[in-house]
Amino acid sequence: MKILIILAHPEAKSFNSALFDTAIDTLKKNGHEVKTSDLYRGNFQPVSDERNFTRLKNETFFKQQYEELHAVEQNTFSIDVLSEQEKVEWCDIMIWQFPLYWFSVPAILKGWIDKVFAMGKFYDNGKIFDNGLSVGKKAMLSITTGGPKKNYIAEKYGDMNSILFPIHRGILEFLGFTVLDPHVIYAVERLTFDERKVVLNDWSEKLMTQLAELE
Ligand code: FAD
Repeated sequence: MKILIILAHPEAKSFNSALFDTAIDTLKKNGHEVKTSDLYRGNFQPVSDERNFTRLKNETFFKQQYEELHAVEQNTFSIDVLSEQEKVEWCDIMIWQFPLYWFSVPAILKGWIDKVFAMGKFYDNGKIFDNGLSVGKKAMLSITTGGPKKNYIAEKYGDMNSILFPIHRGILEFLGFTVLDPHVIYAVERLTFDERKVVLNDWSEKLMTQLAELE
């Protein structure tokens, strides 16, 4: 299978980076094709504005979705946007690896979402959810948290499925992706080194099992 993994973490020696590297190794060893975007190391520029395009249809009033429709027709997406769009179009499965920031994705990944999923290319009038342009593709979030699992309940922070709903439903399913169960590692800083090694091993096994079931 063709798998795209996006990493959004500022530190190359972070645990998120270790989860990212583990996924790449595991998937390659099991014969899958892997493409990646390491957003920080790749200096991804996350601000979505007129720089998403090489030329604008309307130079006097910037309206992103109109410019996206124009860019699909005229092939005028900037190279950073286009190269990420091509990776999403290429993959069968997309994995996002990130630390939970403010119950959401880090800003660099939000910028990637805002820039990459252009109208006319990834969704359009009526081409959403079951008719979405990414129907047939799958997506999985792989997340770490600072907070412990016991706090992710309705009476405290809210359960993780509710927290992830805007991403799962408002972005991935909206585009047509089938959302796989998220991989969530709670309170990663509170684990011992050995416990973190077990987490990496379990992640590798989970990927192998899950992908074998999908093939
Ligand atoms: P790291 O600190 O990188 O890693 C933990 C430990 O693992 C480190 O000691 C590291 O050296 C070690 N390690 C690295 N590689 C390996 C390896 N191969 N084997 C073994 N050990 C290894 N948390 C919440 O719960 N909810 C929130 O809403 C939230 N919002 C946040 C907002 C912001 C802006 C920030 C900065 C943090 C927020 N957090 C939140 C906390 C954040 O989610 C956690 O700090 C993060 O998930 C921890 O993951 P990490 O990869 O950064 O850990």
